[in-house]
Amino acid sequence: MNILVINAGSSSLKYQLLNPETQQVLAKGLCERIGIDGKFTYKPEGKQAVKEADVAMPTHNEAIKAVLDALVDSVNGVIGSMKEIDAVGHRVVHGGEKFAKSVLITDEVMAAIEECNPLAPLHNPANIIGIKACQALMHGTPMVAVFDTAFHQTMPAAAYMYALPYEYYEKDKVRRYGFHGTSHKYVTQRAAAMLGRPIEELKLVSCHLGNGSSIAAVDGGKSVDTSMGFTPLAGLPMGTRCGDIDAGILQYLMNKYGMDIDKMLNVLNKKSGVEGLSCVSSDFRDLETAADKGDSKAALAQKKFAYEVKKYVGAYAAAMGGVDAVIFTAGVGENDKAIRAMVCEGLEYMGVQLDNAANDVRGKETVISTPDSKTKVLLIPTNEELMIAIDTAELAK
Ligand code: AMP
Repeated sequence: MNILVINAGSSSLKYQLLNPETQQVLAKGLCERIGIDGKFTYKPEGKQAVKEADVAMPTHNEAIKAVLDALVDSVNGVIGSMKEIDAVGHRVVHGGEKFAKSVLITDEVMAAIEECNPLAPLHNPANIIGIKACQALMHGTPMVAVFDTAFHQTMPAAAYMYALPYEYYEKDKVRRYGFHGTSHKYVTQRAAAMLGRPIEELKLVSCHLGNGSSIAAVDGGKSVDTSMGFTPLAGLPMGTRCGDIDAGILQYLMNKYGMDIDKMLNVLNKKSGVEGLSCVSSDFRDLETAADKGDSKAALAQKKFAYEVKKYVGAYAAAMGGVDAVIFTAGVGENDKAIRAMVCEGLEYMGVQLDNAANDVRGKETVISTPDSKTKVLLIPTNEELMIAIDTAELAK
């Protein structure tokens, strides 16, 4: 079964054609600068990547057309015809409280996704454009929506409610939703397979640490709490996002510097996090280089980040009444052994014994705790595309 996975942004579109049974990726790539000057990248399995600039892509429809043309191309194509695409899986950021699972897309589902637009105004409208572009060109091919928020819909009310007047939840749907759900679901399923135990028996803390970062407490395969909130601004400090801060700071800074709320949010989303704190970069590789040269702010940003991750690990162990394994995934989690070591340092009291030699690894499924560590520590590369393809194949059958 071949599944086309689409992740549409407002001016970009990532795609991958893969077989979820064999996990073989036939081709993948990226359309960028849609509506501007169109850049197209296509990488067929086992062949050189094709990169084209100034591809006419006034809308997402032309971008999808370019993807489909490349997939069936007589030279670099990987399938004979579009009929060999069995279904399309679309990443959709926000499913609100309506979607606790992936769904086959119908007119009613599209209307319900559109109702979630106010909750993710930068993302959902772009996801919808991507779905419509595929529908226009691929009549009769089943389409599935896979939501970033869906996995966290199992959280209990005590975890997802904010202590705000209740009417803001009832009338305005203000609550914790959480994101990165597809990644947390994938790595916790892989963790169960690595540990050789049913997921129903396991208490897992999943640390998705990338440019955006979130942590999830996953008890028996169900998300019971997560660090991102109503928006992806909450929780850990990230590349440029501040994570949790005292809301009172907003009023103080806005009054002092005459900022309106848009300017303030721009600071919190784009100029804060480890970049804001370090005055160096949002990239953890740059932080490490600077810290190694004695830059104290870069070292502080690394420490602050690891400290906050550690606090969430402890909090979620408390929330679940224990933890069988801590999982590291995404760009930082998969590659930065120093951050992993800083997070695990001092967690011996809860049974974590990091194996320094095993921790000297990047991007490979590995147990990085010692054999006698009561709480296991796992490095698991995430694979959101595969998770989307698995859900899509299941629903399209
Ligand atoms: P992601 O959002 O999951 O793609 O993660 C991207 C982030 O991973 C980058 O901004 C870097 O901070 C981090 N990253 C990638 N490679 C490395 C590396 N080798 N060492 C440390 N951090 C890395």
